[in-house]
Amino acid sequence: MTTSDGTVLGSTRIHGTAPRNRAFTLVLLGDGFTAAEQTAFDTACTSFVTAMTTTPPYDRIGRAVNIWRVNVTSTDSGADDPVGSGGTGATARTYFDSRFGANGIRRLLVCDSSLVLQTAAVQVPEFTVALVVVNSTVYGGSGGSVGTYSLADGATEIALHEIGHTAYGLADEYAYYAGGGETGHDHHPAGEPSEPNVTLTTDRSSVKWGWAIGPSTPLPTMSNPDCATVDSRPSTAPAGTVGCFEGAHYYHCGAYRPEHNCKMRELSAPFCPVCAQVIRARTKVAENICALTPARDAVYRYDGSGISWTRIGGPAGQIYAGAWGLVATNPSSGDLYRYLGTPDDWQYIGSAGATFAVATDTVYGLTPSRDAVYRYDGSGASWTRIGGPAGQIYAGAWGLVATNPSSGDLYRYLGT
Ligand SMILES: [Zn+2]
Repeated sequence: MTTSDGTVLGSTRIHGTAPRNRAFTLVLLGDGFTAAEQTAFDTACTSFVTAMTTTPPYDRIGRAVNIWRVNVTSTDSGADDPVGSGGTGATARTYFDSRFGANGIRRLLVCDSSLVLQTAAVQVPEFTVALVVVNSTVYGGSGGSVGTYSLADGATEIALHEIGHTAYGLADEYAYYAGGGETGHDHHPAGEPSEPNVTLTTDRSSVKWGWAIGPSTPLPTMSNPDCATVDSRPSTAPAGTVGCFEGAHYYHCGAYRPEHNCKMRELSAPFCPVCAQVIRARTKVAENICALTPARDAVYRYDGSGISWTRIGGPAGQIYAGAWGLVATNPSSGDLYRYLGTPDDWQYIGSAGATFAVATDTVYGLTPSRDAVYRYDGSGASWTRIGGPAGQIYAGAWGLVATNPSSGDLYRYLGT
């Protein structure tokens, strides 16, 4: 139940090569793993890395993320599972005192959060988020100041959902609290929730994710015909529609979620576009500034203090940078290269263009004849045409804009 019930063995970086002072850093700490079970913890961490780095939007922002594991032994294997909340009555002496059954709900898995934060800060001082991996196959997790998840089926999906709470402040999008049939959850009380992915409004001009809603999508998009229960009908809107779907934030009616389904509602679903955008925007950490020498014979990155810079690449024609990263053109061919994070490690991602613009999640290019705008698909040298002729393109965290080549009028890219 306390630190006398185990030992912190140490930390290991298991994913990512981002500079430690600028990365989004996730720390996995084990609880309820005995000294003899550390390999099982290591394996669970590897599974987590695979799941996270292949799940959109993380599959395209992984380079900003470092993941560490902190091996901690516990005297006993498992976690407390009190009878009062439907558990087996098992007790286990573990370092972080993990226990199921918080608030009388068995799946709510909590631990000594203060001790977790304290331990993470000692082991990986730059950590952004701490997540406790609990050695039990009982289904559970939670996402408070630290996230927790157990090794039940779908464990890594639980982990990604809980990180949605802990790291990004996302709300639960499901429409019940304890399991679906409970009373007192028919209508959401007044007061707009602070989270970015649930709302009480269906007003097109003020809904938080209005940017993602098509002009012809009706609001509300789906209403619950019976507020006494959760609306479990399939979507009546075309797949992928973003709008206002009633039933969210633990209530059957009166609160809305952005898409019919989302990983913040159901583990097996992908993140909806609104949650994905929040994750992309908030995973980006303090960027650095890069420069091309006057002779264009080298690219340098500022070290973050004083007047110290590090050479990270050779000659370049032009460089473009943004939250997604740094790209540079080959001075002779004009081919585009992406910087991979360590000096002289650059990857070819496309041929020459008139100009490029880096946004939060990718890079955009204007063809040499300025007759089309393309978006980089995120891997290899694959690009998708997203627009016609443009005079100039500009991108940033807010999005992409382009000028009409004849009038100079400005247009905003709406995402399709
Ligand atoms: Zn969502």
